[in-house]
Amino acid sequence: MLRVADYFADSDTGRARRANEDAFYAHAPVFAVADGMGGAQAGEVASRTVVDRLRRGLPDGGSPEERLALLAEEANDLIHRKAAEDEQRAGMGTTLTAAYVDEDAVSFGHVGDSRAYLFRDDKLQQLTNDHSLVGEMVRRGKLTAEQAEEHPQRSIITRALGPEPVVEVDHMTTFARDGDLFLLCSDGLHGLVPDEEIVDIAAKTPVLSEACARLIDRANAHGGRDNITAVLVRIEAGEEPPKRMRTRTRQ
Ligand code: CA
Repeated sequence: MLRVADYFADSDTGRARRANEDAFYAHAPVFAVADGMGGAQAGEVASRTVVDRLRRGLPDGGSPEERLALLAEEANDLIHRKAAEDEQRAGMGTTLTAAYVDEDAVSFGHVGDSRAYLFRDDKLQQLTNDHSLVGEMVRRGKLTAEQAEEHPQRSIITRALGPEPVVEVDHMTTFARDGDLFLLCSDGLHGLVPDEEIVDIAAKTPVLSEACARLIDRANAHGGRDNITAVLVRIEAGEEPPKRMRTRTRQ
Protein backbone atom coordinates (compact mmCIF):
# COMPACT_ATOMS: atom_id res chain seq x y z
CA MET A 1 0.00 0.00 0.00
CA LEU A 2 1.36 3.40 -1.00
CA ARG A 3 1.26 6.64 0.82
CA VAL A 4 2.66 10.11 0.36
CA ALA A 5 5.88 10.24 2.37
CA ASP A 6 6.62 13.88 1.72
CA TYR A 7 5.76 16.69 -0.66
CA PHE A 8 6.69 20.27 -1.37
CA ALA A 9 5.40 22.82 -3.89
CA ASP A 10 6.39 26.33 -4.85
CA SER A 11 5.90 28.87 -7.61
CA ASP A 12 8.01 31.81 -8.74
CA THR A 13 7.22 34.71 -11.06
CA GLY A 14 10.57 34.31 -12.82
CA ARG A 15 12.66 37.14 -14.20
CA ALA A 16 10.67 38.33 -17.20
CA ARG A 17 7.01 38.46 -16.18
CA ARG A 18 5.39 40.96 -13.86
CA ALA A 19 2.72 38.62 -12.58
CA ASN A 20 2.53 34.93 -11.80
CA GLU A 21 -0.24 33.23 -13.77
CA ASP A 22 0.73 29.76 -12.53
CA ALA A 23 -1.05 28.16 -9.61
CA PHE A 24 -0.63 24.88 -7.76
CA TYR A 25 -2.53 22.63 -5.41
CA ALA A 26 -0.78 20.32 -2.95
CA HIS A 27 -2.97 18.55 -0.44
CA ALA A 28 -2.36 14.80 -0.25
CA PRO A 29 -3.54 12.71 -2.01
CA VAL A 30 -4.20 15.33 -4.73
CA PHE A 31 -1.54 17.48 -6.40
CA ALA A 32 -1.77 19.81 -9.40
CA VAL A 33 -0.13 22.49 -11.50
CA ALA A 34 -2.07 25.01 -13.60
CA ASP A 35 -0.46 27.51 -15.99
CA GLY A 36 -2.88 30.25 -16.95
CA MET A 37 -2.92 32.35 -20.11
CA GLY A 38 -4.82 35.41 -21.26
CA GLY A 39 -4.42 39.19 -21.07
CA ALA A 40 -5.32 41.55 -18.20
CA GLN A 41 -4.80 38.98 -15.44
CA ALA A 42 -7.22 36.57 -17.11
CA GLY A 43 -4.59 33.83 -16.94
CA GLU A 44 -4.48 34.19 -13.18
CA VAL A 45 -8.26 33.96 -13.02
CA ALA A 46 -8.20 30.78 -15.13
CA SER A 47 -5.49 28.95 -13.16
CA ARG A 48 -6.97 29.96 -9.82
CA THR A 49 -10.42 28.79 -10.90
CA VAL A 50 -9.02 25.27 -11.30
CA VAL A 51 -7.29 25.38 -7.92
CA ASP A 52 -10.46 26.66 -6.25
CA ARG A 53 -12.37 23.80 -7.87
CA LEU A 54 -9.74 21.31 -6.55
CA ARG A 55 -10.19 22.68 -3.02
CA ARG A 56 -13.83 21.59 -3.11
CA GLY A 57 -12.75 17.97 -3.68
CA LEU A 58 -12.89 15.59 -6.62
CA PRO A 59 -16.28 14.77 -8.12
CA ASP A 60 -17.71 11.41 -7.06
CA GLY A 61 -17.96 8.43 -9.33
CA GLY A 62 -15.49 6.20 -11.07
CA SER A 63 -11.80 5.59 -10.73
CA PRO A 64 -9.38 8.31 -9.59
CA GLU A 65 -8.37 9.07 -13.17
CA GLU A 66 -12.01 9.35 -14.22
CA ARG A 67 -12.67 11.67 -11.29
CA LEU A 68 -9.68 13.83 -12.27
CA ALA A 69 -10.97 13.99 -15.84
CA LEU A 70 -14.44 14.95 -14.60
CA LEU A 71 -12.93 17.68 -12.47
CA ALA A 72 -11.00 19.03 -15.47
CA GLU A 73 -14.23 19.09 -17.50
CA GLU A 74 -16.02 20.95 -14.71
CA ALA A 75 -13.17 23.46 -14.45
CA ASN A 76 -13.27 23.91 -18.23
CA ASP A 77 -16.94 24.77 -18.00
CA LEU A 78 -16.39 27.21 -15.10
CA ILE A 79 -13.58 29.04 -16.91
CA HIS A 80 -15.44 29.10 -20.22
CA ARG A 81 -18.48 30.67 -18.53
CA LYS A 82 -16.36 33.26 -16.71
CA ALA A 83 -14.72 34.20 -20.01
CA ALA A 84 -18.11 34.62 -21.70
CA GLU A 85 -19.20 37.07 -18.97
CA ASP A 86 -16.30 39.47 -19.39
CA GLU A 87 -14.78 40.76 -22.63
CA GLN A 88 -11.37 41.21 -21.01
CA ARG A 89 -11.31 37.53 -20.19
CA ALA A 90 -12.28 36.31 -23.66
CA GLY A 91 -10.25 33.27 -24.65
CA MET A 92 -8.58 32.83 -21.26
CA GLY A 93 -7.40 29.37 -20.40
CA THR A 94 -5.12 27.25 -18.31
CA THR A 95 -3.24 24.00 -18.42
CA LEU A 96 -3.91 21.39 -15.77
CA THR A 97 -1.71 18.49 -14.76
CA ALA A 98 -3.22 16.82 -11.71
CA ALA A 99 -2.23 13.68 -9.80
CA TYR A 100 -4.01 11.45 -7.29
CA VAL A 101 -1.97 9.07 -5.13
CA ASP A 102 -3.98 5.88 -4.62
CA GLU A 103 -3.22 2.60 -2.83
CA ASP A 104 -0.89 1.13 -5.44
CA ALA A 105 -0.78 3.63 -8.27
CA VAL A 106 -0.81 7.30 -9.17
CA SER A 107 -3.48 8.61 -11.54
CA PHE A 108 -3.26 11.71 -13.70
CA GLY A 109 -5.58 14.10 -15.49
CA HIS A 110 -3.84 16.32 -18.01
CA VAL A 111 -4.52 19.11 -20.50
CA GLY A 112 -1.92 21.46 -22.00
CA ASP A 113 1.86 21.69 -21.80
CA SER A 114 2.56 21.40 -18.10
CA ARG A 115 4.15 18.04 -17.36
CA ALA A 116 4.25 15.13 -14.94
CA TYR A 117 7.53 13.25 -14.52
CA LEU A 118 8.53 10.17 -12.58
CA PHE A 119 12.03 10.03 -11.12
CA ARG A 120 12.96 6.42 -10.32
CA ASP A 121 16.34 4.61 -10.26
CA ASP A 122 18.12 7.86 -11.19
CA LYS A 123 16.08 8.17 -14.39
CA LEU A 124 13.55 10.81 -15.33
CA GLN A 125 10.52 9.70 -17.30
CA GLN A 126 8.00 12.12 -18.78
CA LEU A 127 4.52 10.72 -18.13
CA THR A 128 2.38 13.26 -20.00
CA ASN A 129 2.21 14.34 -23.64
CA ASP A 130 2.46 18.08 -24.31
CA HIS A 131 -0.66 19.42 -25.99
CA SER A 132 1.38 21.97 -27.92
CA LEU A 133 2.14 22.64 -31.56
CA VAL A 134 5.74 21.54 -31.17
CA GLY A 135 4.76 18.57 -28.96
CA GLU A 136 2.52 17.26 -31.74
CA MET A 137 5.23 17.84 -34.34
CA VAL A 138 7.70 15.87 -32.20
CA ARG A 139 5.21 12.98 -31.85
CA ARG A 140 4.71 12.96 -35.65
CA GLY A 141 8.49 12.90 -36.17
CA LYS A 142 8.61 16.36 -37.79
CA LEU A 143 10.79 17.91 -35.08
CA THR A 144 13.33 16.54 -32.62
CA ALA A 145 12.89 17.24 -28.91
CA GLU A 146 15.98 19.48 -29.12
CA GLN A 147 14.55 21.49 -32.03
CA ALA A 148 11.26 21.84 -30.14
CA GLU A 149 13.02 23.49 -27.18
CA GLU A 150 14.18 26.40 -29.31
CA HIS A 151 11.24 26.56 -31.71
CA PRO A 152 9.75 30.10 -31.99
CA GLN A 153 6.23 28.68 -31.66
CA ARG A 154 7.01 26.45 -28.68
CA SER A 155 4.56 28.31 -26.41
CA ILE A 156 1.51 27.67 -28.61
CA ILE A 157 -0.70 25.12 -26.92
CA THR A 158 -3.34 23.09 -28.70
CA ARG A 159 -5.48 22.16 -25.72
CA ALA A 160 -6.35 24.11 -22.58
CA LEU A 161 -9.15 24.44 -20.05
CA GLY A 162 -11.41 27.37 -20.87
CA PRO A 163 -11.15 28.46 -24.51
CA GLU A 164 -13.65 25.90 -25.85
CA PRO A 165 -16.98 24.73 -24.38
CA VAL A 166 -15.78 21.11 -24.42
CA VAL A 167 -12.28 19.79 -23.74
CA GLU A 168 -10.66 16.41 -24.24
CA VAL A 169 -8.77 15.38 -21.09
CA ASP A 170 -5.91 12.87 -21.10
CA HIS A 171 -6.06 10.54 -18.13
CA MET A 172 -3.90 7.61 -17.14
CA THR A 173 -2.68 5.61 -14.18
CA THR A 174 0.84 4.43 -13.50
CA PHE A 175 1.86 1.85 -10.91
CA ALA A 176 4.13 3.34 -8.30
CA ARG A 177 6.53 1.92 -5.76
CA ASP A 178 8.48 2.79 -2.65
CA GLY A 179 10.83 5.73 -3.21
CA ASP A 180 9.24 7.05 -6.40
CA LEU A 181 9.47 10.82 -6.80
CA PHE A 182 6.87 12.58 -8.93
CA LEU A 183 7.37 16.08 -10.33
CA LEU A 184 4.55 18.23 -11.72
CA CYS A 185 5.76 21.44 -13.34
CA SER A 186 4.88 24.26 -15.69
CA ASP A 187 6.82 24.96 -18.90
CA GLY A 188 8.69 27.76 -17.11
CA LEU A 189 10.60 24.89 -15.51
CA HIS A 190 10.73 22.08 -18.07
CA GLY A 191 11.20 24.48 -20.98
CA LEU A 192 14.32 26.00 -19.43
CA VAL A 193 15.99 23.40 -17.22
CA PRO A 194 17.49 20.47 -19.16
CA ASP A 195 16.50 16.95 -18.02
CA GLU A 196 20.09 16.23 -16.88
CA GLU A 197 19.90 19.10 -14.40
CA ILE A 198 16.50 17.95 -13.08
CA VAL A 199 17.98 14.44 -12.65
CA ASP A 200 21.02 15.82 -10.85
CA ILE A 201 18.89 17.84 -8.43
CA ALA A 202 16.43 14.99 -7.82
CA ALA A 203 19.26 12.53 -7.17
CA LYS A 204 21.31 14.74 -4.86
CA THR A 205 18.71 16.69 -2.90
CA PRO A 206 16.71 14.43 -0.59
CA VAL A 207 14.99 17.32 1.21
CA LEU A 208 12.12 18.23 -1.11
CA SER A 209 11.91 21.91 -0.08
CA GLU A 210 15.58 22.25 -1.07
CA ALA A 211 15.09 20.32 -4.31
CA CYS A 212 12.15 22.57 -5.20
CA ALA A 213 14.18 25.73 -4.49
CA ARG A 214 17.08 24.42 -6.58
CA LEU A 215 14.80 23.62 -9.53
CA ILE A 216 13.36 27.14 -9.44
CA ASP A 217 16.85 28.66 -9.08
CA ARG A 218 18.02 26.72 -12.15
CA ALA A 219 15.06 27.97 -14.23
CA ASN A 220 15.90 31.54 -13.20
CA ALA A 221 19.58 30.94 -13.95
CA HIS A 222 18.53 29.86 -17.46
CA GLY A 223 16.75 33.19 -17.94
CA GLY A 224 13.52 32.80 -15.99
CA ARG A 225 11.54 33.94 -19.03
CA ASP A 226 8.29 32.49 -17.71
CA ASN A 227 6.55 31.73 -14.43
CA ILE A 228 8.05 28.65 -12.75
CA THR A 229 6.09 26.09 -10.72
CA ALA A 230 7.19 22.75 -9.28
CA VAL A 231 5.33 20.21 -7.16
CA LEU A 232 7.40 17.32 -5.78
CA VAL A 233 5.76 14.23 -4.24
CA ARG A 234 7.67 11.31 -2.75
CA ILE A 235 5.90 7.98 -2.34
CA GLU A 236 6.63 5.28 0.18
CA ALA A 237 5.24 1.83 0.81
CA GLY A 238 3.37 1.64 4.07
CA GLU A 239 1.77 -1.08 6.14
CA GLU A 240 -1.81 -2.05 5.46
CA PRO A 241 -3.94 -0.34 8.08
CA PRO A 242 -5.21 -2.90 10.61
CA LYS A 243 -8.66 -4.19 9.69
CA ARG A 244 -9.86 -4.00 13.26
CA MET A 245 -8.62 -1.49 15.74
CA ARG A 246 -9.13 -2.92 19.18
CA THR A 247 -7.96 -1.66 22.50
CA ARG A 248 -7.76 -4.06 25.41
CA THR A 249 -7.65 -2.85 28.90
CA ARG A 250 -5.75 -5.02 31.37
CA GLN A 251 -7.45 -5.50 34.67
CA1 CA B 1 4.03 29.08 -18.79
